[in-house]
Amino acid sequence: MAKRDVFQTAREEMVVRQLAERGIRDARVLQAMRDIPRHRFVSAELQHLAYRDCPLPIGDNQTISQPYMVAWMSELLALRGGERVLEVGTGSGYQTAVLCALAGQVYSLERHARLADRAATILAELGLNNVEIHVGDGSQGLADMAPFDAIIVTAAAPALPGPLRSQLHPQGGRMVLPVGDDRQQYLELVTRNGDRWQIERVGAVRFVPLIGRYGFRAVRRDDDDSAVV
Ligand code: SAH
Repeated sequence: MAKRDVFQTAREEMVVRQLAERGIRDARVLQAMRDIPRHRFVSAELQHLAYRDCPLPIGDNQTISQPYMVAWMSELLALRGGERVLEVGTGSGYQTAVLCALAGQVYSLERHARLADRAATILAELGLNNVEIHVGDGSQGLADMAPFDAIIVTAAAPALPGPLRSQLHPQGGRMVLPVGDDRQQYLELVTRNGDRWQIERVGAVRFVPLIGRYGFRAVRRDDDDSAVV
């Protein structure tokens, strides 16, 4: 991985000011975000903004999440290495790269083929090969590869999608996802121990909508993801 580049200082500053000083404690998460060149996941014109404290546009009406959000969601998954992880909403592939550094095998689903292709290319260029990117409706999960030790959803669902629930590992599986509509969303941490489910609301958030069978319905076929009911 390109650990030395012109953005190294900006990246270090991001980790200290935006993550560590705001309470991210997981040393592996901090190290992953120190290592992964976030600027590679945005277009050339936006690279100088890549380490700012905000989301950025990545095309197809989608955004790369704010660094803090990526760190927080990653920390909530409590990965120790070796886990099988499902990600719904590849987007730029940045969160995917962080997961690759933290877990054993990552499966990531994206509904926009163009975003999926671009993310797969960058991940390969960075030498991250413990990942499979699939194009499709991630609200249905990836039954063939289940169960997953951890599931992360990076688009807001109207409610916890049933298929993702059943694909979560019965022994200590953890899922983090935003639930809500365009007015109000909460990040939820779901943990499963056999038939015991714990659902914790950990904070208010703002994500683009999860569009799919167990998500929201797109209003138009031409994919204006911002216009949903
Ligand atoms: N973690 C990503 C966030 C991307 S935004 C990043 O930081 O770059 C959320 C992504 O979810 C978008 O790319 C959107 O196209 C995708 N998405 C929305 N609904 C989806 C679905 N049902 N299946 C798969 N991907 C979906």
